[in-house]
Amino acid sequence: MLHTPPVEAFHSFIEREQRRFLAELTEWLRIPSISSLPDHKNDLARCAQHLAQSLAPLHPDRVEIWPTPRHPAVFASWNQAPGQPTVLIYGHHDVQPVDPISEWASPPFEATVRDGRLYARGATDDKGQVWMHLKAIETLQRCLGRLPINLSLIVEGEEEVGSENLIGLFREHSKDLEADVVCVSDTDMFQPGVPSICVMMRGLAYFEIRLQSASGDLHSGSFGGAVLNAATALSRLLAELHTRDGRIAIQGFYDDVRAVSEAERAAIRTLPFDAHIFRQQAAGAPDFGEQGFSPLERLWIRPSLDINGITAGFQGPGSKTVIPSVASAKLSFRLVADQDPARVESLLRAHLARACPEGVQLELTTLHSGFPYRAPVDKPVFSLAKKALERAFGRPAVFVGEGGSIPFIRQISDATGKPCLLLGFGLPEGNAHAPNEWLSLDNFRKGIESIALLYEELGRTNPR
Ligand SMILES: [Zn+2]
Repeated sequence: MLHTPPVEAFHSFIEREQRRFLAELTEWLRIPSISSLPDHKNDLARCAQHLAQSLAPLHPDRVEIWPTPRHPAVFASWNQAPGQPTVLIYGHHDVQPVDPISEWASPPFEATVRDGRLYARGATDDKGQVWMHLKAIETLQRCLGRLPINLSLIVEGEEEVGSENLIGLFREHSKDLEADVVCVSDTDMFQPGVPSICVMMRGLAYFEIRLQSASGDLHSGSFGGAVLNAATALSRLLAELHTRDGRIAIQGFYDDVRAVSEAERAAIRTLPFDAHIFRQQAAGAPDFGEQGFSPLERLWIRPSLDINGITAGFQGPGSKTVIPSVASAKLSFRLVADQDPARVESLLRAHLARACPEGVQLELTTLHSGFPYRAPVDKPVFSLAKKALERAFGRPAVFVGEGGSIPFIRQISDATGKPCLLLGFGLPEGNAHAPNEWLSLDNFRKGIESIALLYEELGRTNPR
């Protein structure tokens, strides 16, 4: 069995078994585990049960369902490779709602294959990717007769509702979840055929600003020109948050932004980025951002600030000559390493206090926050993962960033003290969270193969 190199053994095993792999996944996808809808609470429990039962044939040492105040998580572990590294696999078994249902070409919970794609809610986000890990474990067991490393797995049921109990589970079960690296498959590849490891993910700091200039609204005929207008004051404050050349004008804001080396920037420049497609995806919005940085750099290695909503005064049809006494806005920062949302809040607070006109009451509320994540790419597991992806996909793997935020990545990495390897097999056009979500079957096969190759390589080289 060991005479053929694993890459070929794995490849032919996966080819041979893929129909069964898909049929099994289809059964799991049938369970509508929509975590945000209270009516589906039992489905989440069923979904966890189904996963736990599916793990049994893989002979883990332990399989457990961990209840939480909302939806259960599933835990399993294989400690069958003494002295070898341990990988903790993270995934989630809950899914997004399916509305609008009329836009689905096939029912969201009856997985359907069309044109090399598996269409279903959860096909990529994230049941399909969790399944790839299960099938990689099976591939290793069947082709090598054993697991080359130790593994544990946590699949939570609350990712789509903010992972509110995940860190609690990490605290409660810190011994069980100890590992050398955490592998998360819940992100996208840069482009079809381009295997990718996400090594930077922006954090978030979301605020609401409220200005009050008077105890009630005033008539613009009686007072206009003689008193301060809250909407005008807010507009000025908001406009002054950026300089004209696209930088964020808050004193000290860039102090903690980690410098990115010329080599890393050069690597970003080699990615097949198409400005035309980007413009299309951006719905034709004109370019904006810091001078001297490309769009990808602005999204991945530089922070941003956006006004998400503005509310003030009269907004009905027709006209009303009013001076609003209250104006408010929601705004959010995307943060990069090593920015800290709490420090951003205090800088913003100081900036607004300086800029706010006298006599106006200003309130600042934090609505949401999360730290950015930057992977320690010099750790050997990152180059091993690149190599495994390259062997499975037949094309060099790339390090990419993510402009959005998955705050728990940094929380998991902090809680375990270990790097997170974001090995994602979704595609940007894969409709995660939208109707007609799909998983590329090519990625499904090659993803299983890459994961198996990575674990095999980790076992053989045993890096620390
Ligand atoms: Zn997800």
